[in-house]
Amino acid sequence: MKYVSTRGQAPELDFSGVLLAGLAEDGGLYMPKSWPRFSKAELRALAGLPYPELAAKVIAPFVDDCIPFQDLQAMCRRAYAGFGHAATVPLVQLAPGLFALELFHGPTLAFKDLALQLAGHLFEYVLEKSGEMVRIVGATSGDTGSAAIEAMAGRKNIEITILHPEGRTSEVQRRQMTTVTANNVLNIAVKGNFDDCQDLVKAMFGDAPFRKEMGLSAVNSINWARIAGQIPYYVASALALGAPDRDVAVCVPTGNFGNVLAAWVAKQMGVPIGRFIVASNRNDILTRFLNANDMSIHAVEESFSPSMDIGVSSNFERLLYAFVGSDAALTANIMADFRVSGKMAVPEPAWQAVRREFTGFTLDDPGTLAEIARTYRDCGYLADPHTAVGLAAARECAPVGLQVIVAATAHPAKFPDAIEKAVGFRPALPPRLADLYERQEVFTRAPNDLAHIEGLVRAFAHRNDA
Ligand SMILES: *Cc1c(COP(=O)(O)O)cnc(C)c1O
Repeated sequence: MKYVSTRGQAPELDFSGVLLAGLAEDGGLYMPKSWPRFSKAELRALAGLPYPELAAKVIAPFVDDCIPFQDLQAMCRRAYAGFGHAATVPLVQLAPGLFALELFHGPTLAFKDLALQLAGHLFEYVLEKSGEMVRIVGATSGDTGSAAIEAMAGRKNIEITILHPEGRTSEVQRRQMTTVTANNVLNIAVKGNFDDCQDLVKAMFGDAPFRKEMGLSAVNSINWARIAGQIPYYVASALALGAPDRDVAVCVPTGNFGNVLAAWVAKQMGVPIGRFIVASNRNDILTRFLNANDMSIHAVEESFSPSMDIGVSSNFERLLYAFVGSDAALTANIMADFRVSGKMAVPEPAWQAVRREFTGFTLDDPGTLAEIARTYRDCGYLADPHTAVGLAAARECAPVGLQVIVAATAHPAKFPDAIEKAVGFRPALPPRLADLYERQEVFTRAPNDLAHIEGLVRAFAHRNDA
């Protein structure tokens, strides 16, 4: 399997190459050159397999000959062994035709663990073979940082540094990062906000000598390996509801568009998904696009579903590329123009084609609380604020006759303040995290200063030198 950049000016790479590269050299995102396809008989044979086995079979065609199947299978087993539910991604019925696909049983209680836990093993495997070492640097407002740290902690040939804005993540989120004791993890609490952290990370990547000296790498949501790790749960849940002999709809609470893109890839592989419902909070760029072809950047506003507080959905570029007929030159032009103008000029035929498959939906904060309360009242089910946006979208937009799978992207205990506002009590953390508030925290405080932060990363790299 070869991968090409959506902007057409970067070298073709294999799976190991795109895993380590993340973003393509030309600023584009890597896409497989063709879609692997399962026949109906092959899909039926996957139904009911234990999740790690199914995941290995779904991901195998993307990895191709970079990793022998037995090794990939072993990594999938290890990646999901630590999940807090025997079904890994259980499907729970909430109403006739309405199902929550629980993606929050991993170590950090959010769906990002599904892809990142596997990515940790993939990185270690590929680096071990090549003898390289990488230093992952990232910024987080909460969920991504903790999932990345949990995934990379203790892995050979990898160090990870995560910058978080001091005092601006929730306590659960901060503790999930700072209580990891592995000696390849550096947490930095920056005096500033999330944008400052992100700017510092961009500046480190932009500092070519430093980037090279440190061997910097990223695991952000544009890495193809993360998309690949999110496809299997859509295959598994659709099969459980009667695919390939019956169509389903999928509804995804969306930020960077990575999770819903994975569902669309499952369809390209043969899973009959009749509709994609893209659920957003008040940061509604995707809803405006789907309703009126208005993909224009507005200021980001805070909401009760912070992991969906985005101005631009970076993975949308992959869908754009597919819907303009894999025309990389056109995609590059559209993206260059978008950067300058702040409004993406998606060609009318491509927009119409996207709309035939995708529906957009927006929910504000009061609506989110109302949905949490309603779901709790009607079926005793506690949905986190992100999942609640998805549930409301599914109730509103589900096509008649299709069962809807809603991606339940986080555990309610991650967002106790919003839950308390909606139902009057704070949900308990799962038993394996019950002592989170007592665990020892380790982190370094730093000013919002590039040279200072680079100094910390460098000192950490040399911490074991004699
Ligand atoms: C990251 C995240 C999302 C958004 O996912 P994307 O792939 O960026 O669209 C939604 N919900 C939760 C809980 C998340 O952590």
